[in-house]
Amino acid sequence: MPGRTFRPSEIADQLAALGVRKGGVLLVHTAFRQVRPVEGGPAGLIEGLRLALGPEGTLVLPSFTDRDDAPFDPDTTPAASDLGVTPEIFRALPGVVRSRHYAACAAIGPLADAITRGPPPIPPHGPDSPIGRVHDLDGQVLLLGVGHDANTTLHLAEAVARVPYGAARWFTILRDGLPKRVDYREPDHCCEGFARMEEWLDVEGLQAEGPVGHAHARLMRAQDVVRIAVERLRAEPLAFLHGPAAGCEDCDIARASVRAG
Ligand SMILES: [Zn+2]
Repeated sequence: MPGRTFRPSEIADQLAALGVRKGGVLLVHTAFRQVRPVEGGPAGLIEGLRLALGPEGTLVLPSFTDRDDAPFDPDTTPAASDLGVTPEIFRALPGVVRSRHYAACAAIGPLADAITRGPPPIPPHGPDSPIGRVHDLDGQVLLLGVGHDANTTLHLAEAVARVPYGAARWFTILRDGLPKRVDYREPDHCCEGFARMEEWLDVEGLQAEGPVGHAHARLMRAQDVVRIAVERLRAEPLAFLHGPAAGCEDCDIARASVRAG
């Protein structure tokens, strides 16, 4: 049941109340259907995010592709459908820059080039990726109507902690005008276990929560996410995987990959 329509300036006020830093770097994962209605639709939400950051701030949205068999083209390859409608609208807005590889982020603001530049990172969300750079720049992560299962910075933590599970993946690049498959290994599973981050952050009081539009929002520092998740993963490397009794096929495959070495 949609309620009243929020103006972009009201979205910005809610973000400021939550703790979004003016002039900072903000990585946003969102389900617009939880936020709406907003004047202007997803573009109005983006306007509210930019108002909250101000002209010195940099807004970053995931812009990955789920097409592993086609070369990535930053101008035409759509953002993965499970990222929702907002990243797909954001990447095409004037002034937004997008990485030129499969693990792309899109960004606008003074640090947009620094965050999105560079060759394809392996693993896709490791230290030398757009997600890794948001971390290095002490960016904040906003989960807007989504849970920690959408928190890509936790894949960065898995890479830093060198978790023992991994799955074979590939992406496709153009070399001398011809498609070339590049194989790699990355930590993968169902990601439901990322929900444990909720409690780990709350225990240390490092997650702010409140309403943004009609959605429930969570705000945290990327560096807190990685530091705390890496501590937990070092003590319990399979902390993010479902147990063997859960019957989760993705996590069973991840666990089997540990035994296979
Ligand atoms: Zn699972």
